[in-house]
Amino acid sequence: MDSYDQSGQPQIEDWGRLASLISWLSGIVDSTLGVVLIYLAVTMAGVGFGAYIAHSNVIWPANGVLLGILLFSRRKKWAQFLIWTSVTNAILHMFTGFNPGRSLIYSLANVAEVYPAALFIRWGDDRRPDLSRSKVLIRFLIAAMITPMFSAAVVQCGTFFVNYGLQYDGIRSWYLADVLGLIIMTPLVLAVRRIKLQRLFQEKPSETLTIWGITALAGYLISRQTTYPIFFCFFPLLLLAVFRLGLTGSAISIILISLPADYFTVQRRGPFSLSGNSAVSPVHLLQFYLMTMIATAYAGAAALAENERLRLSLAESHEKMETLAGTDALTGLANRRTFDIRIQDEWKRAIREKTPLSLLMVDVDYFKAYNDRYGHPAGDRLLKDIANAMASLPHRAMDLVCRYGGEEFAILLPNTHTEGAMLFAERMREKIANLRREDQDGTLPSITISVGLSTIRPRDTVTFFDEFLVTADKALYDAKTAGRNQVKVRLIETEIEQVTE
Ligand code: GH3
Ligand code: MG
Ligand code: MG
Repeated sequence: MDSYDQSGQPQIEDWGRLASLISWLSGIVDSTLGVVLIYLAVTMAGVGFGAYIAHSNVIWPANGVLLGILLFSRRKKWAQFLIWTSVTNAILHMFTGFNPGRSLIYSLANVAEVYPAALFIRWGDDRRPDLSRSKVLIRFLIAAMITPMFSAAVVQCGTFFVNYGLQYDGIRSWYLADVLGLIIMTPLVLAVRRIKLQRLFQEKPSETLTIWGITALAGYLISRQTTYPIFFCFFPLLLLAVFRLGLTGSAISIILISLPADYFTVQRRGPFSLSGNSAVSPVHLLQFYLMTMIATAYAGAAALAENERLRLSLAESHEKMETLAGTDALTGLANRRTFDIRIQDEWKRAIREKTPLSLLMVDVDYFKAYNDRYGHPAGDRLLKDIANAMASLPHRAMDLVCRYGGEEFAILLPNTHTEGAMLFAERMREKIANLRREDQDGTLPSITISVGLSTIRPRDTVTFFDEFLVTADKALYDAKTAGRNQVKVRLIETEIEQVTE
């Protein structure tokens, strides 16, 4: 019970567990035995559904599953997968009552279809294909339309050697059933292996199951009635999956629509049996309809996926640009722009939380002389070293160390009293004073900073805001005139009691 929250909704972990189970099961296809078992199960389901339930094969799923497995496997495994599934196929056909010749031709036909399709789809790009990329999808659809012709041709030629009298109509059914099997099952297998189906369960389980539930129910109701020719109503159901669940979710919706449509149409029931046109049988009408609908849905899903990828990459570049715009190029510290934004935020936060805010203004001593003596590039390197030293001082995540401009730095310490800020400033001053850089002639130029500190307890958004910055600057001036390499504090007159402990 503990995995259910008060509203009775199953929690994410449950779907996570289901997702891991699907992943674990899909891992079976890494071994030849696993592939054979899956192929056997799907072939038996196909044969069973075709022979005993629907009395015809509107969809032949086994080749689509095998193609999906090949596309996901390393190329060197293809031969063993193809050989063993063919043997399985032939044996299964013999057990179902076909003679050995015919069984052999059927299994050869499947290889003639799946192998070239796999080769063509991975041609020139030997990675696991992502069907939501339109180039890959187009390749896949072309392969799915053409390679079943090869297998149909093998079956047709087989009639010369083993006479089983398959008519032209039978060959057309064979072809259409194979095309449908490929375009329905391959994306599903790829989705499972690419963990996309599992992700749907993890990310939006209720929406996914609701859409599939509606699709299954409405699909069934549309298919079982033979009064209205409303087969076009399948389309919005599928579009719903395309828009909300992507290509992966639509692959499942397609199965949910196809199965009852297949079952009822073969029995001359359902909306496809109302066409009244003897030129096309209801089964072929259903097959053409499914082919068109699925290809269109996939194209839409791929276009949406590409848009989404574009949106993500734009968002990513935008984030990078934002970071760049707020960073000083030389030192990598936050820049003046970030300082101006953050000081406003921290000021408001200090009002809300009634906390003190401290500011250190830092200026490198005799930096002009350093530049004059060692050159500007050496000056730049020194600025970087000083910045690194400052940034590496232990500080809280909310503290802001930034380059204010030139050789001046500003450090904002939220929720910090004068004493705390003073300690921090002293540690920093000492660290920089110990940053000895050996000169070309072996002397050690002294590198020091002067620091001006001010603290305030802001009471509203305007009072003393400018004074705060000016006072820290004045304190810095004090440090300079007092001989440099030191920290000086100045407080706004009316603040003195408020900000010292
Ligand atoms: P003081 O102790 O009074 O601060 O003396 P100072 O020489 O540091 O003071 P001043 O403000 O006159 O000099 C700052 C120098 O910093 C002048 C400028 O050339 C140099 N400077 C500013 N920005 C950069 C920079 O990005 N790189 C280098 N190399 N020098 C810079
Ligand atoms: Mg200066
Ligand atoms: Mg200076």
